[in-house]
This record gives sequence, structure tokens and C-alpha cells, in this order.
Amino acid sequence: MNGQPLDGFVEGFIEQDANGRITQWSDESERLFGWTAAQAVGRRSHVLMPERNRERHDQTIASFLAAPTRRIQRMEVTALHRDGQEFRAEFYSSIEDREGAAVITTVVRAVTPDARAEAAFRQSARYRGILNQIEDGCSLVDLRGTYLFVNDAFCRMFGLARSGIIGQNYRVWQDPTRQAETFEKFNRVFTTGQPAKAWEWPLSPTQFIEQSISLERDAEGQPVGFVSIYRDCTARKFAETELARAKEAAESANQAKGEFLANMSHEIRTPMNGIIGMTTLALDTALTPQQTDYLQTIRSQADSLLVVVNDILDFSKIESRRIELEQVTFSLRDVIADVAKPHAMRAREKGIGFSSDVAADAPALIVGDPVRVKQVLTNLLSNAIKFTAQGAVTMTVGIDGRGPFTTTLHIRITDTGIGIPTHKLTAIFDPFRQVDGSTTRRFGGTGLGLAISATLVELMRGLIWAESDLGAGSTFHVIVSFGVARADATGDPHHLEPFSAPLQRGCRVLVAEDNIVNQRVAEGLLTRRGHRVTVVNNGREAVAAVQQGPFDLVLMDVQMPEMDGIEATAAIRAWERDTGHRVRIVAMTAHAMTGDRDRCLEAGMDGYLSKPIDQQSLFAAVEQ
Ligand code: ADP
Repeated sequence: MNGQPLDGFVEGFIEQDANGRITQWSDESERLFGWTAAQAVGRRSHVLMPERNRERHDQTIASFLAAPTRRIQRMEVTALHRDGQEFRAEFYSSIEDREGAAVITTVVRAVTPDARAEAAFRQSARYRGILNQIEDGCSLVDLRGTYLFVNDAFCRMFGLARSGIIGQNYRVWQDPTRQAETFEKFNRVFTTGQPAKAWEWPLSPTQFIEQSISLERDAEGQPVGFVSIYRDCTARKFAETELARAKEAAESANQAKGEFLANMSHEIRTPMNGIIGMTTLALDTALTPQQTDYLQTIRSQADSLLVVVNDILDFSKIESRRIELEQVTFSLRDVIADVAKPHAMRAREKGIGFSSDVAADAPALIVGDPVRVKQVLTNLLSNAIKFTAQGAVTMTVGIDGRGPFTTTLHIRITDTGIGIPTHKLTAIFDPFRQVDGSTTRRFGGTGLGLAISATLVELMRGLIWAESDLGAGSTFHVIVSFGVARADATGDPHHLEPFSAPLQRGCRVLVAEDNIVNQRVAEGLLTRRGHRVTVVNNGREAVAAVQQGPFDLVLMDVQMPEMDGIEATAAIRAWERDTGHRVRIVAMTAHAMTGDRDRCLEAGMDGYLSKPIDQQSLFAAVEQ
């Protein structure tokens, strides 16, 4: 047969007895199998099969005869022509009882490739020649899925011989999953007329094929078959996996870097707390003028170092998006005054002017994150002063717009300093960017301040930008909307307002802290302020001390050996449920990461101080 289509439609007719011996043989059977009736009758019907399948054929007949319901059975098999050629054929068999003996009647039909599809395809021999040159595999099947053509690349790709595949149904070499998938695609392409776009399937665990299918039509436009194109996409697939893996590695490295930065700056902040606290205490003792000078220098150097460390911590938090803004009610004028005060001093020391002004019609109380607002403004003001040698720095707060529940503020910080070249006006908001490398040496700084400010303003859904005249000065603009609070609104109960009015003195304070330096700093500062301080080393001791009490306040370190601050707070709160007492507990933590605050409040703490603890917020927490 050689894969050549038969001209016309041939159906053979065969009868055989219960022993599988041929009893009837039609002319059509002769045309199909090459045996004459005289030659065929009396032979076992398994001669119509290739040698290798004969045993199976005999078994099939036996089980067919034994089957309780002898319905018509259809089989598609590889049949054998007398001349040795194999071909695909369909057998439809049924059993009849004739005078007490079983007779098997079979109609045989050759499964022939669709002549029309073949003809349509054959119209272009050149087309086939070209297809044999290309790298991609290509096949044509008729509408029944019988291969009419495969190109060389197809045979190479799948390791199949052309002679073995032509005339066969695609099912013969596909596993059931692939068969179902291919059938589904053929069906869709046939019903929609649209090609099936390239999809991938694994040929083996290490080889991937991308296949697309389109409908083949004859000259009249009638669908006659399907053309498939196959591409080995293994390399691309592996490159993709590699890329994904590399991306994942880079991301986790980046995260590790962020965590390292956060941990490092936390580790540095803890001893810094000790240095600054102890220096402050030492400055309060009897000193020679020279000693005072030395200690003041230490203090100011330590303060500067803390700014850098805080910048790095903030930056790593911001970069890993582990920062959350608070929403508390605060006084706009107080915050502006707080920010302005140290800068006014700094400007005076430098011999330049300083002024700050809040528009008269600005609301008194607004809702937002005062700490982060201060951080942005502090950063802009310290830059303005840093880069200005003569003239003045001004901060103005104006109203940009009002809504029913919001006010939009426009804050301008203007200086008469060195200015910024126009082409650098955007880049300065990128991390680690300074106008020129020499800036660092001349003026110091990490280049992180503006990047942090820009991200914070972005988190507040605001805008920040700069204008500048090189050599004449710069103006930094910030526009942010805030909620407007009623004048009698109380703030967030957990927010520690900056301490200003004289508050309660002589409080009984329990400090639970394992670090000796921190213990002494807290004890020193609070005692000097007139409070009575008891120090314990861990959570367990803290619980015991509270039970013996009484205390007005517990300053609870979060990370402590034996029992941490969170557990200790939970134990204290549980004990209080039976006694009716309630002591205020304020967390102290160097963690300063998003989520810490929530954990502390969840455990039943009333407030939260982040380390290093600055005097003002410490006193505010105690004396509130
Ligand atoms: P740092 O000040 O720590 O270097 P910043 O991110 O705050 O980092 O600022 C980045 C750079 O932008 C500065 O190094 C400086 O070159 C420039 N810059 C910022 N503010 C001003 C200003 N007011 N006048 C002139 N240059 C400025």
C-alpha cells in the first residue's frame, strides 16, 4: 500500500467458523488482502494479520465467542496483504448461530488516507520541498487524523521513520493525555476555523515541544485536514526557568540585604542609645569646662551618627515596604514649631536667617502621621541649612485646597544656598544620589534623605519636587492632604503626644530591661526627673514586681531573656483580671519595624517607644 490512497472505497466480506477458519471470502476481500477465495477458504483468519499479532487475534476471537452479549465488535487493526505490505483496517464482526454452530461474519474496510486532503496538499510539491528544508517539524493529517505528510524535521524531532507514520492515525504514537489534547485542538480548529496558537507539551521530562495547528482547505475552501508545526522549545523553556530562578535568587538576595541593613542598624542603635544616654547623664555632673566641651562633642557626634543609622534603617524599611503610616490627630502648629526649633538654632549658629510661618486659616488639628511629616520637613530643612552659607532659610505652610473632610497643605522650604543644576532636580530624589561626588566630602550626608522623604510623601499620596536657581538657592515643595479633626477631638489613645505641659512628677516606674547600659540610662534620666525607679532584668521578674507593686507605669523592653515583654504583659494582664488593678505598660523596642507596634498593643500594652529612647518621649510616656 505504501501509504498510497486506494482509489475508491473497498469493503471486504469474510466469514469464519468458531475455530477461526475462513469459510467465505468475497472478491473485495481478495482486492484488499491479495488472496483468492480458493486460497483463503480453509485458512485460519489470523493470516490476515502480521505474524506478531496473530496470537492476539486468536485470543480476541476466543473471547468474542465467549462473551455473553455478542454484539457487533469494531476493531482497528494493522492488517497484512499477501505480498507482505501492512495496512490499517477496520473490522466489524458479529456472531451468528447457524444450525447450532457459531459463525463469525466480518466486514473489513481499509482505513485509507483521505484522498482529497492528499490531493489538495500534493498540488504543491514545491511547498513540500520547502517544508523539508525548515527546522521546524511539520505534519499534515486528514480530517480523521491520518498522517498524509511529515517533513524531515518532524521525523528527526520525534525519532520516527516516515514510512512508519504515513497512513497511521496520530493516536498510534501519542499517549492518552496527548491524544485527548490533540483531539480537542483538532476539534476546536475544525469548528472555529481558527488556528490553535502555539502551546507547549513535554515530549520527555527534558524536552519540550511547541505545537500549532491550522486548518488545511482544498481549492474550493472545504476543510480537508490539519497542518501542525512543531518547534523544539526546550532551550527557551530552560532559559525561562533559569531566568525565573535567577530572579527569585536576586529578589531573595535583595530581601536579605534589606533585612541585614535593618538588623545592622538595629544592632547599632542599641549601643548608641547607651552612648547618648550616658553622655547626657555625665553632662549633668560636676565637670571642668574642658570635660563639658569634650562630652558635648561626643554627644553631637553621636547624634549625627544616629541620624545616619536612622536613615539607613528607614531606607531599608521603606525599600522593603515594611513601613506603615499612622493616622492620628495632631496639632499642625505644634509639629511645625517642633521641627523649626532645632533648625532655627542651627541657622543662628551658622549666621543665616530662619523663619517659619503657618497660614492663619490653616486648621489647628489635622489627621495624619506627625512623626513622618516631621521627618520629611526635618530632612528638607537640614539640607536647606547645610547647603546655605549666607542669606536665609524659610518654611511656609499654606493651604492648597479644602474638601469637606480634608485640607491640602502646600509646604515650601526655600533657601539662598548653592542651588541645584536643573538636570539634577529629579535625580536627587533617587537613593544614594548627590549632586556631585564632592558634596559628600564637603557637606557630608548619605544621599538617602530625599529618597526617604520622597517615598514617605508618596505613601501619604502627596507630591514633592524641587525648583532651583544654581548659585541663588532652591525651593522644595511638598503638597499633602490631611484629614481635618474637630477641635475637641482627642488623639489616638496610643499615640504619645510630644510632652510640653508639666505633668505628673514622682511616678513609680518599673523598668524591665536586660541591657545594663539601657537600664542605667533609663534609671538615670527618670531619677533625675524626680521619679522613683525599680529595675528588673527580664519579664518574669517584671511580673513578680508588678504583683508586689504598686507601680504607675511599666517600661517594658520587648526582647528579654527567660520571658519576653509580650509574654510578661500578657501574664500581668491575666493577673490583673482577678485583682481589678491596671498598670500602664509602655513597650520599649529597638525593632521599630511595622507590625511590632501592633504586636505590643495586641498583647495589652498601652503605648510604644522605639529605641533609642529620646528623653522627651520617655518623660511624656511616664508623666502622661
Ligand atoms: P544628603 O543630604 O544626605 O546627601 P539627600 O538625599 O538629602 O542626601 O540630598 C541629596 C543631594 O541633593 C544632596 O547631596 C545635595 O547634592 C542635593 N541637595 C539637597 N537639598 C539641597 C539644597 N537645599 N540645596 C542644594 N542642594 C541640595
